[in-house]
Amino acid sequence: MNYNDTRRKTKKIKVGDVYIGGDSRVTIQSMTNTDTHDIEATYQQVASLEAAGCDIVRITVPDEESAKNFRALKDRGIRIPLVADIHFNYKIAISAIKCGADKIRINPGNIGSEDGVAAVVSAAKEYGVPIRIGVNAGSLSKELLEKYGHPTPAALVESALSHVEILERHGFYDIVISIKASTVSDMIEANKLLSAKVEYPLHLGVTEAGFGIDAAVKSSVGIGALLAMGIGDTIRVSLTDSPEEEVLLAIKLLSALNLTERKGMNIISCPTCGRTKINLISLVREFKAKAEKAGIMNKPISVALMGCAVNGPGEAREADIGIAGGVGEGLLFKNGEIIRKVPESSLVDELISEILKM
Ligand code: SF4
Repeated sequence: MNYNDTRRKTKKIKVGDVYIGGDSRVTIQSMTNTDTHDIEATYQQVASLEAAGCDIVRITVPDEESAKNFRALKDRGIRIPLVADIHFNYKIAISAIKCGADKIRINPGNIGSEDGVAAVVSAAKEYGVPIRIGVNAGSLSKELLEKYGHPTPAALVESALSHVEILERHGFYDIVISIKASTVSDMIEANKLLSAKVEYPLHLGVTEAGFGIDAAVKSSVGIGALLAMGIGDTIRVSLTDSPEEEVLLAIKLLSALNLTERKGMNIISCPTCGRTKINLISLVREFKAKAEKAGIMNKPISVALMGCAVNGPGEAREADIGIAGGVGEGLLFKNGEIIRKVPESSLVDELISEILKM
């Protein structure tokens, strides 16, 4: 099943050299967590996110100085599209646009004056920069909360449409919309409702999803359910973790739905059973930690970590590389061939060093 074939056709929006919506592939976004004033740290993280497979990077822009840093980042050779995340201040939005932001995230209803909206729209048109409207359940207006009682899916959609209406009134249509909620079912329902009402591309995400397995499940269910329905054009997995982890999870999520060619590393490991004679659970944890440190998690290879010589060698041979556990040792396989027998204590290190050569 290829979910690309059943995706809802949306308006195609250009963000730098990347497209969102229309017939373009689902893109992956993340956000830096460095201090935007620290150009070196921000540059390093943007480069690291690009290397991890991110398509578009968002950067928070709290003041004029950080808006100007977009120019510094571009001058240092950043090519991946950068999004300026701005709250309330239209002047900062205009500075970010003029300094090279490829997209801005701002809610026109929160800018304050029609003149401010007109000025942002005029700069965005002049520089060919699209605008993402981002509505979150946690920041709904007082009026809508009074009308609906709490941030229901209908309230979230009404909020998003009110911001869209403002931009359209100013003749601006290069719009991407996101509606995020930390409650997965609300996020799904709101995006279903919204997608029936607009042709603009949708940016999907479960906000404040938490960390570890909780975040992975919430994002996979929320974003994955919508993508499987053909809804959604760009995604951001939200994790209380490094942004690179967000990208890895996003790649895995898209990969599970056949929505990306980029697969990253596919780790195949058995659940262990009474036949397991090596400490496979700790070996897998050690492997993951060391592989992340070695920066090899985005290699498009399959790695089998199997507990025994019954099913292990079969899986390990099918994978690009892998191990099959024995008693206090393991067989190392590469491209279907046994390379050597390795003591349990050095299995992970030898596996990593073989992967680094691939
Ligand atoms: Fe058990 Fe071997 Fe299967 Fe792992 S691969 S679950 S150790 S039989």
